[in-house]
Amino acid sequence: MKLNENYMNLSGNYLFADIAKRVKAFGEANPQTDIISLGIGDVTQPLCPAVIEALHKATDEMASAASFRGYGPERGYDFLREAIVENDFRRRGMDIEPDEVFVSDGAKSDTGNFQELLSLQCTVAVTDPVYPVYVDSNLMAGRTIVKLPCTAENNFVPELPTQHVDAIYLCYPNNPTGTVLTRQDLKRWVDYALESNAVIFYDAAYEAFIQSDDVPHSIYEIPGAKQCAVEFHSYSKTAGFTGVRCGYTVVPKALGTELNALWNRRQCTKFNGTSYLSQRAAEAIYTEEGGKQVRQTIRYYMENAQLMCETLGQLGLKVYGGTDAPYLWVRVPEGMTSWGFFDAMLHRAHVVCTPGAGFGDCGEGFVRLTAFGRHEQTREALERIRKM
Ligand code: PLP
Repeated sequence: MKLNENYMNLSGNYLFADIAKRVKAFGEANPQTDIISLGIGDVTQPLCPAVIEALHKATDEMASAASFRGYGPERGYDFLREAIVENDFRRRGMDIEPDEVFVSDGAKSDTGNFQELLSLQCTVAVTDPVYPVYVDSNLMAGRTIVKLPCTAENNFVPELPTQHVDAIYLCYPNNPTGTVLTRQDLKRWVDYALESNAVIFYDAAYEAFIQSDDVPHSIYEIPGAKQCAVEFHSYSKTAGFTGVRCGYTVVPKALGTELNALWNRRQCTKFNGTSYLSQRAAEAIYTEEGGKQVRQTIRYYMENAQLMCETLGQLGLKVYGGTDAPYLWVRVPEGMTSWGFFDAMLHRAHVVCTPGAGFGDCGEGFVRLTAFGRHEQTREALERIRKM
């Protein structure tokens, strides 16, 4: 048997496994220390009451033959797709149809799988630093990847590619840098994609954290985007669904290349739908009560982000992001590497961060901190960093 040799091109060490190894070794050598993680991207707050209620109700439906649900529609139930279209798009003045929405088990699968629709000859562009799924899924397929540096010098807004690319992955608000694109910035990309006949894969997983008015919640706010962009959404951070699993992808029919029909064909072949329970849970977020509760939890995390920005700024660290995203991108002190700063934080403050170098070459010299901790832990971690 021959293996897919493209897998040999993947970088050997998975960032979070590496971090876990170092944290474990430190914990074993110092069993009395209480380590606080501001590193991993999981949430800490429970599901909101409206979601819990919907989950209980859906579970009860499953208990009787009359209301039991088995396989659902591959694209997702109408009740959820209608709620998505109404609340996430029409209410904000965008015209998206329910048959352009595909419910998924989260944005990781869809951002990883969508590249299957592209020819292996396509060149794809990704930002550096980057959410690794875009890179690894294209390396597995054997495609050529072009990197677009995002640095403090360009304000973390990537320059347009200097060579032809067929697809561009953009993630805004960004993981890992926590930075955003304004409408003007995003328009440049839409215009570029239309001119060069490229597709934009727009990852809007952190859209719910946007506070600023001039930051678009969806690429479809930009005229022409329906002709050139696919958009991915996730309820993971929006509503604490990291364990429930649900998200959706918008594939407009106006995309000239029949992508909507092909994605439907792909999903019907390889995906058997998101669980009924998860979809009822997601629907609950769009009720008045559910919406309020979800926004309250987002405020909770953004209070962490604000406190982190203020405190680290007072300590003289240069901090990016954190105002429209739950991530802070912190420049490490002069002369240190991102792994060096990671080790110093772990050993001297017992706080875990994520070394920026793990997200790409341009991440060297930075660490990522997340605002998903509990208030008490976040405050304690900041106090320890202050003493350090
Ligand atoms: N896209 C980005 C940029 C992310 O950071 C994440 C999760 O961390 C995902 C997608 C995946 O989210 P999901 O839990 O919906 O698979």
